[in-house]
Amino acid sequence: MALSGVEIFKLLPKTNCKKCGFPTCLAFAMALAQGKTELAKCPDVSEESKRVLGEASAPPIRTFFLGTSEKAVKLGGETVLFRHDKKFFNPCVYAVNVKDTLSNDELNEKIEEVLTSEIDRVGQKLRVDAISIEFASGNSSQYESAVKLISQKAPDTAIILNCKDPSAAEVAVRTIADKKPLLYCANEGNTGAMTNIAKTHKIPLGVYAKGLSELSVLTEKIKGMGVEDLVIDSGAEKAKDMLELNTQIRRSALKKNFKPLGYPIINFVLREDPIFETCVAGIAAAKYASIIVLSSIEKWKNLALFTLRQNIYTDPQVPMQVEQKIYKIGEPTVNSPLLITTNFSLTYFMVSGEVENSKVPAYLAVMDCEGLSVLTAWAAGKFTAGKIVQFIKDSGVENQISHRELIIPGQVAILSGAIEDKLEGWKITVGPREANGIPTFLKSRPA
Ligand code: SF4
Repeated sequence: MALSGVEIFKLLPKTNCKKCGFPTCLAFAMALAQGKTELAKCPDVSEESKRVLGEASAPPIRTFFLGTSEKAVKLGGETVLFRHDKKFFNPCVYAVNVKDTLSNDELNEKIEEVLTSEIDRVGQKLRVDAISIEFASGNSSQYESAVKLISQKAPDTAIILNCKDPSAAEVAVRTIADKKPLLYCANEGNTGAMTNIAKTHKIPLGVYAKGLSELSVLTEKIKGMGVEDLVIDSGAEKAKDMLELNTQIRRSALKKNFKPLGYPIINFVLREDPIFETCVAGIAAAKYASIIVLSSIEKWKNLALFTLRQNIYTDPQVPMQVEQKIYKIGEPTVNSPLLITTNFSLTYFMVSGEVENSKVPAYLAVMDCEGLSVLTAWAAGKFTAGKIVQFIKDSGVENQISHRELIIPGQVAILSGAIEDKLEGWKITVGPREANGIPTFLKSRPA
């Protein structure tokens, strides 16, 4: 069970030395109880206290990586039930399941689908993150060949070894242990053997049991055998059961600090009907799955699921934003026009897209307004004449262009006079009110 702030305080050195960044040990204890700091910030805590507090202050849902490449994905680590309470941290992983009974050509086709699944959406790269390789052949050499082929052709993609047979699993794990695959899964019948494989090769282990009581017993047993990076599967098959059990798992972990269920969740949502499968995957994404295994990854399905995931895992308190800088669109020269806008992602992508459509190479000065759109930033005092002038001066754009003309959004036409007064030698031109007017505006200007 979680310890209260006062209980934690009793175990601290009580010297109020401030090395942890808090004014007193009590303040540190209170923050630790609320999960707002880490025990490691106190350098003087005793070994005995560390032992007692370590368990109590561990994150309620275990956090670890699947895979080892730059595309490795972080699982778990969530701290709230509802995104509006704070934010969700680690986006769920979409994986596609492939059977080792497929021919090499068919496997290559699947791999290609995964490798070309990446899309860029409002500045983020979104992709299918993992391949689940199912031991369907019953032949461990065939399984090993499929695992080898996939890991060679998709070296950076995380792998789930979907295999309940310990001898086939052992062979496959040995082949790619350095890639830190997830071994799925240990169940009531194979716990000892699968746990030993995961322990020997230091890889995460999926745990399957029908129902939460059985699952809790199994995770405790496996933890006792020395494997703690676990992913849990409640055995839910129907969407309704998956929703209920996923919610119970998250509630138990966060509200009751129930450690046996404090692990990332995996859901296999395989369905014959791709539309039905997409719906069920959407439920899993919305309600707490960390890994969602699909039977197919058509582009249309990916788009729907990626968009949903992106929306769920963005921080509701922070608008999406792009970096403040001078962006080049096309291949601008010293005579190319200079436009300015704010750094709200959607504003940037709309404006830059329309400048691109105009086929007129240009510079786009994107100013940090904490992710607010033009009108909102202006109303909030973040896109003012003074701040625009300062940004233009600091940006160094004056060295990139030979003219001194700045095109401002039509929505803030009111600022033109004030900017011109403050920005000596510059001409301020009022551009269109809406981004879709940019192509006509740019093309109608003298070359
Ligand atoms: S570093 Fe440790 S001993 Fe010092 S104030 Fe913080 S909690 Fe107390």
